[in-house]
Amino acid sequence: MSKDVKDYLHLLDKPLDEFEAPGARNSTLGEDALWHVLYSLGQDNTYLNKRKAYWGLVLAVRDRMLEKWTAVQRKYYANDDKRLYYLSLEFLPGKFLRGNLLALGLENEAHEFLHEHDLSLDEIVDEECEPGLGNGGLGRLASCYMDSMATLGLPAYGYGIRYSYGLFRQEIRNGHQVEQPDNWLHEGSHWLIPRPHNLFPIRFYGTVNEWLDDDGMLRHDWRGGDLVMAMANDMYVPGYRNGHVNSIRLWEARPHKEFVLSSFNAGDYIGSVQEKISDENISMVLYPSDDAPEGKTLRLKQQYFFVAATMRDMVRRFKKLNKPWDQLPEKNVVQLNETHPAIAIPELMRMLLDEELLGWEEAWCICQKLFAYTNHTILPEALETWPVKLIERLLPRHMQIIYEINRRFLEEVRLHFRDEPELPSRVSLISAGPEQRVRMSHLAIVGSFSVNGVSSLHTQILKDRVFHDFIRIFPDRFNNKTNGITPRRWLRQCNVPLSWLLSEHLGCNWITDLTQLKKLRELVDDVEFRHDWEQCRLTNKKRLADYIEKVNGITVNPHSIFDVQVKRFHEYKRQLLNILHIISLYNNIRRNPDVKMQPCTFIFGGKAAPSYQMAKDIIYLINCVARRVNSDPHTRNFLKVIFLANYNVSLAQLLVPATDVSEQISTAGYEASGTGNMKFALNGALTIGTRDGANIEIGERVGDGNIYLFGLCEKEVLALRRRGYDPWEFYKNDSELREVLDMINSDQFTPGDSTAFSSIFNSLLTGGDPFMVLADYRAYVETHKRISHEYVDRDLWIKKSIMNTAGMGYFSSDRAVKEYIDGIWSLEPDV
Ligand SMILES: *Cc1c(COP(=O)(O)O)cnc(C)c1O
Repeated sequence: MSKDVKDYLHLLDKPLDEFEAPGARNSTLGEDALWHVLYSLGQDNTYLNKRKAYWGLVLAVRDRMLEKWTAVQRKYYANDDKRLYYLSLEFLPGKFLRGNLLALGLENEAHEFLHEHDLSLDEIVDEECEPGLGNGGLGRLASCYMDSMATLGLPAYGYGIRYSYGLFRQEIRNGHQVEQPDNWLHEGSHWLIPRPHNLFPIRFYGTVNEWLDDDGMLRHDWRGGDLVMAMANDMYVPGYRNGHVNSIRLWEARPHKEFVLSSFNAGDYIGSVQEKISDENISMVLYPSDDAPEGKTLRLKQQYFFVAATMRDMVRRFKKLNKPWDQLPEKNVVQLNETHPAIAIPELMRMLLDEELLGWEEAWCICQKLFAYTNHTILPEALETWPVKLIERLLPRHMQIIYEINRRFLEEVRLHFRDEPELPSRVSLISAGPEQRVRMSHLAIVGSFSVNGVSSLHTQILKDRVFHDFIRIFPDRFNNKTNGITPRRWLRQCNVPLSWLLSEHLGCNWITDLTQLKKLRELVDDVEFRHDWEQCRLTNKKRLADYIEKVNGITVNPHSIFDVQVKRFHEYKRQLLNILHIISLYNNIRRNPDVKMQPCTFIFGGKAAPSYQMAKDIIYLINCVARRVNSDPHTRNFLKVIFLANYNVSLAQLLVPATDVSEQISTAGYEASGTGNMKFALNGALTIGTRDGANIEIGERVGDGNIYLFGLCEKEVLALRRRGYDPWEFYKNDSELREVLDMINSDQFTPGDSTAFSSIFNSLLTGGDPFMVLADYRAYVETHKRISHEYVDRDLWIKKSIMNTAGMGYFSSDRAVKEYIDGIWSLEPDV
């Protein structure tokens, strides 16, 4: 595109006057940035470098957010608004500067300021360090929802943990994943404002005292044990050009006492410091397992720590209103992002019973009207349970309360389902067996008024299988809220060329009303528009090619098909299926050196949980195949395999707009929704995918002809497993597949070491191939052949690409959040 940035910016930047608080500022962003360089950073502001410009801008932007945020908080009280508390152990916001400038309508001013100092926004955003306070999809969803809540003007608060160390940084050494600590706060973050006065003591261990008070009422008092302080740190979330700013409160653990004075005086200086260190450990590091909870005491401590502080904060605000307790659920709603914060239910019960002296029925009624729970996974190993023994020790009063919730619940169940003696043990909050465990999902279901899945298929599976018994007990409790992504970050911000083109043709309302994209359908037959569309895509692909050249030292052809699979490494996501196909492609090209084939660049990215050996083996396999393929002169011009290290939000923003083919190939029934699939299709990539999660709904909206669905559907996966699935059949009957598997089981990719991948080979064959990679292999390969063939027809392909973007309006997180508002939260926007 030859047009200059400035030619387009006017399309995207609505006049701001109407949103600025009157008289709030008579200085420009640049003037304020320079002021902060001198007075907040204490540095010479007569000349700027990237660092100074970045920090100065951050502080100037922050000033503007704080003005709006305080005004919004005042308004919440003045209007007596009902508030939403969104509890999530993970948030993955990505870098802030560009998004905040965009939301506040300050992009132009920032460009001008930087231009005057011979700097550009592109280079100074590199100064920012991405907060990796989440593992993947779940944390990113929380951040997309926070963006939409602010844009819709909702009285909403995010709550989580301020981890000192986010998800590890991934390096690849000799093909292997190496984990490095992510010390994201080493330079501090001015996006995060510490609030040392918002401080609550949080108790662990200790004992429960029971006694009869003067009115003859049985009272409980949890005392003793260890106290840790929870200190608030706030992160701000501006709505898109609406003057609204919300916050995410992240709790940081602080020692209860600075030093234990007695041991200090006794000369045990180190011992007293050590105690301080172990208290701070609670918020030290994010657990790096995605979809597989770690049963460690520290993890449960993290959960209770942030939940207890959050319930305190909610009750503190509620008490200012001087309303009776039964109004608590009328003025608040708590959304639990997965079961990680489910301990909030017994914690609020404890506060109401033991501290506020409410009766059980009254307290329980409040809880059941207050909490709502979102389920994100049906992987059996991901359903969270905690040993009764552990909770009894760490949170003795909560264990009593859980027992009592369960006793009353099972009594009801027995009453209503008299002829089903098995039912109570199936739905019990506590699993029987050699080690009794608390089932957190059952606690969340029983203690909430709403339980939702995150795609149509996923919710159906919850109803049919995972929580089938509960459907009969609570028929009205279950509902679906298909996930969404924010169009601000995942189109406007990450794909500037396409945003220009869209705004030029549709106006700029698509940024807050993504359904406008459907008007693109009228433009598919416009040759010039298609040409511009292709040019935008090419611009993005060249930018990615430059990055790959710089980081991996490999030259890729921007006219080749960019086929991308980036997401956490997990067997159910089947990166293996992808690499098996690449190996067979490699074999075919070597056999037919004169083959006429569209060059392909296969790109992988994603982290494996440090303890997940199979996922790490798959990363190693991909890197070994890449090394072999990329250095083979016979295939070099047709085939490249790239592994991009340290997949995170920033890298996703680079990859998504440059992708031609999006790989969404999980075993049907295993991916609850996926949101990566939405990012790619929104930016005009075509999906090769299974009929799983939100892929099905994406297909319905972009149209059958514009998506490549293949393989077994969920019912077929179940049926095949029931019949007895034998991967050896596929090995025997498909010679191409057999050749690929035998190569993996030899030293072809690891010269001199023929057992490097025997774990993978064994899992796929003797191990029974639990994720049915071999069963879907043939359909996958044939679908790729079709893609390769259709890509060459540029007109056809670009039309399909446009039809993808046109059909993706539904997947805006604005739509999803509106469905939560209408179906669950009953909230009013306050704008
Ligand atoms: C969107 C996103 C995810 C989720 O991707 P899926 O393909 O849905 O698993 C994970 N990590 C990052 C950094 C993302 O941006």
